[in-house]
Amino acid sequence: MFSKYRPTWTVDALYHLDTEELAQQKIKGVLVDLDNTLIAWNNPDGTPELLAWIAAMKEAGIPVVVVSNNSAKRVDHAIAPFGLMYVSRAMKPFTRGLKKAQQKLNIPNENLVMVGDQLMTDIKAANSFGIRSILVKPLVESDAWNTKINRAREKVVKKNIFPTGITWERKLIND
Ligand SMILES: [Mg+2]
Repeated sequence: MFSKYRPTWTVDALYHLDTEELAQQKIKGVLVDLDNTLIAWNNPDGTPELLAWIAAMKEAGIPVVVVSNNSAKRVDHAIAPFGLMYVSRAMKPFTRGLKKAQQKLNIPNENLVMVGDQLMTDIKAANSFGIRSILVKPLVESDAWNTKINRAREKVVKKNIFPTGITWERKLIND
């Protein structure tokens, strides 16, 4: 019942995803959630680590697409400093946005990964769409009210999937 929320990997932060490890896993394109995964509300310009990660991904030739449930206006404004492609109104946990991103990249599902901070939206969408996924720690704890409701539900799911708690890795390590 809870397996649809299970991520392939748990990594503490987006910027710890190493281009060589991604290549080893045959990952050729990365779909990434916006809020609390790529950037935090209190640091909209991104951290130096994030900027370095984006540069490393570009150099490695691994495209990154932001897949967000937010409006085009909001996403366009938010990611302007980073020069990334995006899909807005993605409707996660449904697969619409992931499908759009997949078509944009024209990379097969087995070579894609979705990175996000929420099991109920990001990871569920990835599992429904049939791609691997990486759960990351939310960048900040304080959040929008609708996310808070999701997080309450998410607590129940988390307890079932990770009964002894989540081990946040710095690498792609399979359990
Ligand atoms: Mg998020």
